Amino acid sequence: MQNPPKSLLDIRDLEVSYGAIKALRKVSLKVMSGELVCLIGANGAGKSTLLKSIAGLLPSKGTIQFSGQCIRSQPAHSLVAQGLALVPEGRGIFGEMSVLENLQMGAYHRHDKTGIKQDTEHAYSLFPRLAERQQQLAGTLSGGEQQMVAIARALMSKPRLLLLDEPSMGLAPLLVKKILEVIATINREGVSVLLVEQ
Ligand code: ATP
Repeated sequence: MQNPPKSLLDIRDLEVSYGAIKALRKVSLKVMSGELVCLIGANGAGKSTLLKSIAGLLPSKGTIQFSGQCIRSQPAHSLVAQGLALVPEGRGIFGEMSVLENLQMGAYHRHDKTGIKQDTEHAYSLFPRLAERQQQLAGTLSGGEQQMVAIARALMSKPRLLLLDEPSMGLAPLLVKKILEVIATINREGVSVLLVEQ
């Protein structure tokens, strides 16, 4: 008999409030190991709130299990070390640092120098544009290039689950296609993905 597929992320009855405003009510969803799940929602539906609460950046009620462990209310830095990485809405890159330094920041909790070097090379192979611009200040890049930095930086933490908050926002259609192709490649390489989009 085959083993049933394992859920990597299992959310049940999640609730998040901003003061008196209830932004999420009884949200339940699963991401199975190896899956790429896309959640579509209108402006203000609560997509960013959901991803931030999974990533440990917002207090919530309900159940969030990652790899079978309860992670709700664990701090974000501990979740990154467990393999959960968020590419935030608006990218959140370090504008005053170079592309390479941004990537190194993504690996801040790692000590395997060889692995970090290999993953940097891999990020550059996914986004050759970043290899050409590795010494450029990230704040001077185009919007699309900044999105590449944000995704590459998240990959540097060696995630098992990548949370992506509207990576297509503000990008030209051709670049959106390119970014989505890379996300599909990352998924094929074994990283599970939860993507939210409008
Ligand atoms: P968008 O597609 O526009 O990014 P979204 O689906 O990501 O929207 P959220 O940003 O999660 O939506 O917002 C969900 C709801 O929570 C909205 O009504 C928003 O106004 C409210 N909200 C978000 N952040 C805060 C905050 N810091 N304080 C108060 N209310 C907030």
